Amino acid sequence: MGRFRFLIVILIYIVLCISGFNALILQQEDILRRYFVTSPQDRIKEYNSTISDSLFKYFVRENKEADINGVASYIKKYGRTSLFDTVFIYKDENGKLFQISKTGIEPISSENVDLSPEKVYPVSIDSGRRDGYLMIVIKEAKDAEYEEGMKKYRSISSSLRVMFLLFVFALAIIALYHSYSRKMRLARDMAEAKASNDGLTGLYTHEYFVRLLQIEIERFRIYGRPIGLIMLDVDKFKLINDEYGHVAGDRILQEVAATIKSATRSTDICGRYGGEEFSILMPSTHTSEEARQPKSVENFASEIKNMAERIRRNIELLDITLNDSKHVKVTVSMGISLSHNKRIPIDAASFLEKSDAALYKAKGSGRNRIFVDQDFLTV
Ligand code: GH3
Ligand code: MG
Ligand code: MG
Repeated sequence: MGRFRFLIVILIYIVLCISGFNALILQQEDILRRYFVTSPQDRIKEYNSTISDSLFKYFVRENKEADINGVASYIKKYGRTSLFDTVFIYKDENGKLFQISKTGIEPISSENVDLSPEKVYPVSIDSGRRDGYLMIVIKEAKDAEYEEGMKKYRSISSSLRVMFLLFVFALAIIALYHSYSRKMRLARDMAEAKASNDGLTGLYTHEYFVRLLQIEIERFRIYGRPIGLIMLDVDKFKLINDEYGHVAGDRILQEVAATIKSATRSTDICGRYGGEEFSILMPSTHTSEEARQPKSVENFASEIKNMAERIRRNIELLDITLNDSKHVKVTVSMGISLSHNKRIPIDAASFLEKSDAALYKAKGSGRNRIFVDQDFLTV
């Protein structure tokens, strides 16, 4: 359902983008049409008179002392350009009309000359002896040219439409991919969490705990901040199972795990090492500066001992009520070892062994107690 709704949103987004863009293009076409077709005459007239005036001024300036030859060389230059044609018309001594155009000087009859006033300027040349007219013919935008222009414009706007479409699709695909990869990430994280947490107690699994232990050892090698490792085992758990059954045993393991979790800090790493054995890794939270202080290891040692004692006492105080209203009490034994000297390298297996050996001693000396590794005592 979520996915379907997301696709609908993307689709609506695409349709809105495309129709918005299309509306803009159509509006642009409309502006062009109005500019070129609906009111072209006024625009052309205005344009013509401006350009004619400035050409005339230029002609007068260029031909101050002009004679026919001077005018002819001017017309040769500007007689035919892409925007306008210029001709000069004059009367000779006999009153005969001549035209100087790009093609040269030729006689003309007055009928075939367009003498509309805005394009014709009277000029006298040959030191005022001869009167003539400068005639400027502006080339007007023709319908065919307009159509040609519109065709080009339309081809540009359709390529723009295609490009925009591709752009919007690319954005949509990125959005889809983004949401897909977020879901995949979430699924992967969930799978990882499932693999890293023990189903019964919610603590880290044996494998995951050992992985984290190796990481912490690596950190210890680099920064030298001490780490403590506690191994915890429920006392005489076999008897509890025998007396109350495995289901009750499981319940008790959950209670023990919850007590461990609540007595530790978020920086401590708690795992179910196996069966009714738990492991707690306590990295020092001291800053590098604090870690260099002479009493730092000692402080850390008492911190971890206090924490172990807190766990032991809290479990001892647990009063677990089973489904059949029976009350059960449990105790635990713990072995602690510490890594505090960067010069003495340690690996995960021997670290675990040291804590395990201490636990064994705690069991041997009567249970419901904590035993600390010898190296730990010589801190
Ligand atoms: P000790 O004080 O020496 O540790 O005695 P113990 O009886 O606890 O020692 P042992 O290791 O011999 O027994 C552990 C028992 O824990 C055996 C097994 O039946 C039980 N056990 C291990 N895993 C589970 C579990 O997941 N659920 C339950 N209910 N029992 C478990
Ligand atoms: Mg055991
Ligand atoms: Mg046990």
